[in-house]
Amino acid sequence: MKILIAADMEGVSGVTRWEETEPAHNEYARFRRIMTEEVNAAITGAADGGANEFVVVDGHGDGTNILIEELDQRARLNSGGSSPLSMMQGMNPETAGVLFIGYHARAGSQNAVLAHTWSSGRIANVWLNEVLVGEYGLNAAVAGHFGVPVLMISGDQTACAQAVELLGPLETAVVKQASGYFSAECLSPKVTLPMIRKTAELGVLRLKDGTAARPFIVQTPVKITIEFRQPEAADRAVRLPGAKRTDGLRIEFTVQDMLAAHTGFRAAVKQAYD
Ligand SMILES: [Zn+2]
Repeated sequence: MKILIAADMEGVSGVTRWEETEPAHNEYARFRRIMTEEVNAAITGAADGGANEFVVVDGHGDGTNILIEELDQRARLNSGGSSPLSMMQGMNPETAGVLFIGYHARAGSQNAVLAHTWSSGRIANVWLNEVLVGEYGLNAAVAGHFGVPVLMISGDQTACAQAVELLGPLETAVVKQASGYFSAECLSPKVTLPMIRKTAELGVLRLKDGTAARPFIVQTPVKITIEFRQPEAADRAVRLPGAKRTDGLRIEFTVQDMLAAHTGFRAAVKQAYD
């Protein structure tokens, strides 16, 4: 049973500031280690539940945060970028389930540490077929394209609640209670690592007993709507083939499936800020 562990950094235990997730800053070294430990805890938990193949994707920034020398040796690591599936690189139809580690709430959320969608300075909102999503939704939809469900999420209480609301009965590991964008009541890794391990195990067990969330399958064709933070970004993004401007900040396009929507989304963001 193959499990994809999709890791981000803003939802890692103890993180409340951008600086803690940015290589140029002193505190980053601590939190990339904790991120690696959280991924290891998820691998151990998934193995406790019966999984025997582990693929990790480093989904934060340029994808070079996880310390491979400290990564559980049972795992293979998708590192670097830009890769074909970005935060879901390594996903394929043989994958049994996905674990989201260190995830965060969508842009604009209240009581949500570093809540954003893809790019905090660039994107105000993203919708898939009129449904507002964050990265948890975009990435779950890529998994859903392959028929694969998300089994767990770790992060603050708002990230976990949003994922459950959209995706169904995931197992959740709330590693911090956010009280603002830059503030949270955080638990020690001595508490959160065993919590993540147990949550991953439960997620895999639910898959085996048939009570896990269903794969998040977005109906085709897929309409994706992007609201940028600056009108000049929409000016540039709308030049992509098939894109339509719907107001000062928004563009939309409709494509045949979720993979095309995902690729188109990334291309639009890139085009918008080139
Ligand atoms: Zn991130």
